Amino acid sequence: MASYYNEHTIVYLDGKYVKSTEAKVDLYGQTLHYGLGVFEGIRSYRNVNGDTKIFKAWEHYERLRKSAEALNMPYPWHDIDLINATYEVLQRNNLQDAYIRPLVYGPANMSFNLNAESHIVIEVWEMGKFLGDKLLRVMTSPFQRPNPAAFKIEAKACGHYVNSILASQDAKAKGYDEALLTDMHGFVAEGPGANMFYEKDGKLITPALGNILPGITRATIIELCQELKITVEEKQFTPDTLKQADSAFFCGTAAEVIGWESLDEVKFPLNWNDSLGRVLQQAYKDRVTEQALAPEKLDGNKGLKSKEAIATR
Ligand code: PMP
Repeated sequence: MASYYNEHTIVYLDGKYVKSTEAKVDLYGQTLHYGLGVFEGIRSYRNVNGDTKIFKAWEHYERLRKSAEALNMPYPWHDIDLINATYEVLQRNNLQDAYIRPLVYGPANMSFNLNAESHIVIEVWEMGKFLGDKLLRVMTSPFQRPNPAAFKIEAKACGHYVNSILASQDAKAKGYDEALLTDMHGFVAEGPGANMFYEKDGKLITPALGNILPGITRATIIELCQELKITVEEKQFTPDTLKQADSAFFCGTAAEVIGWESLDEVKFPLNWNDSLGRVLQQAYKDRVTEQALAPEKLDGNKGLKSKEAIATR
């Protein structure tokens, strides 16, 4: 098992900084029993100036709040306070390049009734690339993404990850690196923990919103494409269409940008190093480490305390 914490690790729990080993969770909690909870996956990076920067912190905390609202969970926190708390947790754990996991969970409640309160914990740990750095052999999964009429599919909800885990474990048991899930109509949706793009004839195509988690990395890739004058289309397509692609990749906070070797044993013909995915992999890396920002836009402050300080980042 991976080691996420040791006896020195500090987490932010309901407004306090406490040791992981001393924090307690209620065994009668609604989230533990039924999966009704929400979370985020965020990364921080040591930037070119040596400062710690949480990538797209506002976007992630906004999605956390919207996810909680979608699941009718009380959410009494302000984004600014949670962002400052996250920088503090990073500093207390002496981490710059880190994975950050805020989790909002419910109190003891074995009924299906609304809760009057929620809890929040922010954990940080060191994490390498979620899907490694070798090109992936991907398999179309027999598991489909949940029907959006049954779940709030745009929310990053704990319970949704039962579907992700089933698909990912099934693909690995069959000798593949990762699964690709379709939606309930058989159109390509996303990976268990990442969105995807493919390249065809010099253009990029990605599944439209509606049956996928609206990824912050996906939005960043679209932004980078606009800057780099790469055409991107958001539309529905099948795994058979995808097998005709020149190249393909997954993207996500944890996975960053990672190319595919094949889908269902069908190899993508374009050399990864000649693909748009490779260009975007580098552009993404430069963006998260602020390599692409002019030095005058970097202010060098650590320990952010005001919205203005963060808003300039
Ligand atoms: N889809 C799913 C199912 C995910 O779990 C993730 C990871 N949060 C993504 C897509 C990518 O989202 P993001 O780029 O915001 O990390």
